[in-house]
Amino acid sequence: MSIIDGEKISTLIKDKIISEVQTLKSKTGKIPGLAVVLVGDDPASSVYVRSKNKTCKNVGFHSFENILPEDTTEDKLLDLIHKLNNDSKVNGILVQLPLPGQINSHKVLKTINPDKDVDGFHLENVGRLVTGNAIFKPCTPAGIIELLDQYNVKIEGKNAVVLGRSNIVGKPVASLLLERNATVTICHSRTMNLPLVSRSADILIAAIGKPLFVTSDMVKDNAVVIDVGINRVNDKLVGDVDYESVYKKASLLTPVPGGVGPMTIAMLMANTLQAFKNSLS
Ligand code: NDP
Repeated sequence: MSIIDGEKISTLIKDKIISEVQTLKSKTGKIPGLAVVLVGDDPASSVYVRSKNKTCKNVGFHSFENILPEDTTEDKLLDLIHKLNNDSKVNGILVQLPLPGQINSHKVLKTINPDKDVDGFHLENVGRLVTGNAIFKPCTPAGIIELLDQYNVKIEGKNAVVLGRSNIVGKPVASLLLERNATVTICHSRTMNLPLVSRSADILIAAIGKPLFVTSDMVKDNAVVIDVGINRVNDKLVGDVDYESVYKKASLLTPVPGGVGPMTIAMLMANTLQAFKNSLS
């Protein structure tokens, strides 16, 4: 069994971005800019936003942090999005989810200019993704495919089982696997006999948000197992996969932390660089 090292792969991607930004800066005098919007002070969201800002600075991007109070109205947030849409220094806009209950997330995501939608959640970009025309692939799913590629995992013709059908991870990663000619099954909370389905997977992606849910009896011998879950248990981060038991059965396995998580941020930077390059042409 080998461990998939997401830290190492994400560092390689960020290093490539750093050198491309330097080249573009010397040619154009401009650098990419990412605006991150956080409403409220949810501790997990605040950690993600800080980490995204820090990575932006490390790769040489402008980072625009917009932190709004928990009781921000929908209109106020939409005004900010319009402002960012019209700001030429901002190439990417990311609104940290979830948003407080008084704000309609769909309306907010629809308001982001699709050309700056580096999360890939705007309906136009979702449509592009499922028809195989993506400009921005959602960051976590794109990071998963990048890990599989970097570890030379053959996707074409394989049985891929995705546990979870969220718009952020499950559905888009299923689309990307399908685009790469895997035979894809998506499982969710109403799936009958889930262990039987998951045991058919050559590639098993766990994205359900249930700590240590996937045990060795749910995994085929030598499967490639990607653990997307981030769950806090007794102040420790654990994934959706019971690492200790699955470790012995899988051929490749992502750790938590240090697997998919760092790739998500690296792909966000890659999408922002792409948005910047698109704005130059
Ligand atoms: P959601 O809560 O939006 O979706 C969870 C999905 O899991 C749903 O489709 C749900 O089914 C399904 N599910 C829940 N319980 C079961 C069960 N017992 N059996 C089968 N399916 C089940 O989660 P997200 O997709 O947003 O996130 C999933 C996990 O990934 C979380 O731990 C999150 O923190 C993590 N995450 C990690 C990222 C990273 O960068 N590493 C990025 C994004 C998320 P149903 O639709 O029927 O309710």
